[in-house]
Amino acid sequence: MESPTADQIDIEALREKYRVERDKRLGGSRRELPELVGPLAHYADDPHTPAQPREAIRDVVDVVVVGAGLGGLCIGASLRDVGVERIRMIDAAGDVGGVWYWNRYPGARCDVDSLIYLPLLEEVGGPLPKEKYARAADILAHAQRIAKHYRLDEDALFHTSVVGMEWDESATEWITRTDRGDEIRSQFVILANGPLTRIKLPAVPGIETFEGESFHTSRWNYGYTGGSPVSEDLPDLRDKVVGVVGTGATGLQCVPPLGRSAQQLYVFQRTPSTVSVRDNQTFDEKWLAELEPGWQMRRIENFTQVLYGGKEATEDLVHDGWTEVWRRLFVNERFAQMSHDELEHAKEVADAQKMEEVRARIDATVHDRATAEALKPYYAYICKRPGFHDEYLETFNLPNVSLVDTQGQGLEAIDATGVWVEGQHYDLDCLVFATGFEANEAGSSFIRRLGFDVLGRSQVSLDAKWSSGLSTLHGLMSANFPNLFVLPSPSAQNAEPVNYIHGALVNARHMAYVVGEMRSRGARLFDVEEAAEDAWVDTILDRSIDDAAFLEACTPGRRNGEGRLDARPKANRNFGGGPLEFFEILADWRAKGDLAGLSLE
Ligand code: NAP
Repeated sequence: MESPTADQIDIEALREKYRVERDKRLGGSRRELPELVGPLAHYADDPHTPAQPREAIRDVVDVVVVGAGLGGLCIGASLRDVGVERIRMIDAAGDVGGVWYWNRYPGARCDVDSLIYLPLLEEVGGPLPKEKYARAADILAHAQRIAKHYRLDEDALFHTSVVGMEWDESATEWITRTDRGDEIRSQFVILANGPLTRIKLPAVPGIETFEGESFHTSRWNYGYTGGSPVSEDLPDLRDKVVGVVGTGATGLQCVPPLGRSAQQLYVFQRTPSTVSVRDNQTFDEKWLAELEPGWQMRRIENFTQVLYGGKEATEDLVHDGWTEVWRRLFVNERFAQMSHDELEHAKEVADAQKMEEVRARIDATVHDRATAEALKPYYAYICKRPGFHDEYLETFNLPNVSLVDTQGQGLEAIDATGVWVEGQHYDLDCLVFATGFEANEAGSSFIRRLGFDVLGRSQVSLDAKWSSGLSTLHGLMSANFPNLFVLPSPSAQNAEPVNYIHGALVNARHMAYVVGEMRSRGARLFDVEEAAEDAWVDTILDRSIDDAAFLEACTPGRRNGEGRLDARPKANRNFGGGPLEFFEILADWRAKGDLAGLSLE
């Protein structure tokens, strides 16, 4: 797609258009978070695996890991590497996999290169992914392989939710209680509950009254739609009118199979996503077979280096939409010599050029002019998570697919037979919510997403401690919560690289290092020294990037607290120096070998 030159872009006019589009979307019910209780409780049910009754368990293990997603599995693997034997993973799902257990909607894939997203490929062995962007089913299968390889499934408790966790000072153990009546004591606990755990339904009046079939994309009901996570054909929808709410990364992926399968599909849009070229590819088998040992971590590190301007990145191994756009917008060499004002201007122009390309792709693909106009995003590229797809836009050319643009307002109301938008009723047999998950920035606290409070020394509550802002050492440990680690969700005094798995691996190895060191020094517990914690909080505050002006100009979304900029305490931000510097800080800390800031007993 040809990019307009800088002279062809009227920055002032674009700013004004972005402002108008943002203002349309401010306010409303976008910050309300409905509880999944009563008539909405069924949205959280597990359609994938029936839960089995079992006896309550009482035992003592080395480590309890809450959350058996890819993050929890990375931790389990690292703990095995330092010789930890008894590990109990606990998860509300019926198996390992986390988001990839739950999200089996048709078309679900990861849009990060599979060779850097599927962790521990070399360690676990087994088949390498065939496609650059792996299907959800393949990622789940790999998660199961990790669990088997590291024997993390042996003691795992599935369909089990933790209801409480407290520190027993006299026994120097944690006590974890679950909704199955279990009481498990352990030396260490690790909270690996992940960022995408709590389903977000829209706060639309009457949502509980709909009498047709309805589910969230993370609980896809193949019993109703027919098909399977790998077929992308949903034969039982041939005679059904379906509505899908939400056009984020999930909406982009499930709309094409829905459009091909349903008698009629309405796509209810509040804000259009950017939809860049995905260009999925099949890897050359010979090339895969000849990868040199150590290739995976090199590729993972290279991707993060390219994205965040690491000096070592002399080549771009992944070479995809992420690296292409990051090089253009953020880490371009031509930015190096510019003054602050020149840099701001150059970045704004580069962003506008990219967004013009995104909009031009829509014009070139979508036949109906009004639909094409409505699909065009008007905001800076990273106001929302960038989207990639090669079939989404084409789907709107199908005669049975209609875009219902809600003018930034979302659904007006839901009743027994369908939904209302701008005074018009849409009769539906099936209503699919592709409305995502609660995020920290939208007002959902860490403890709300975790689902239970944690009581540390002297019964101090983690919820209370963090209610006015996070307080940790490196985002991983917190004073008065001995032997407890957190695998941070985004924005938690840690780093959030585009490839979530890179952060998960580094953090997991760091935690395992601490456990290994304690064992070799004969220590039973660690706690964080208050001074070290205060210093890290100061680092987060000092290094935090002042992006208020940028975020204020953005369309409401996760990044700007749904348009409420002051929603999040400054201390809850990521480390402002970016992932590369953060990983270096952890590596230096380990290299010194003195466990600075931790007291051991
Ligand atoms: P999401 O990004 O939160 O998007 C939710 C969508 O629902 C948005 O389009 C939102 O509109 C819309 N929405 C919410 N309430 C609405 C209402 N009342 N009426 C109409 N529309 C409404 O959720 P997601 O797409 O499920 O993604 C969740 C997370 O998973 C994201 O972090 C995403 O990046 C990640 N993900 C990743 C991949 C991958 O390939 N790696 C794939 C899928 C998902 P607004 O934009 O106006 O808020």
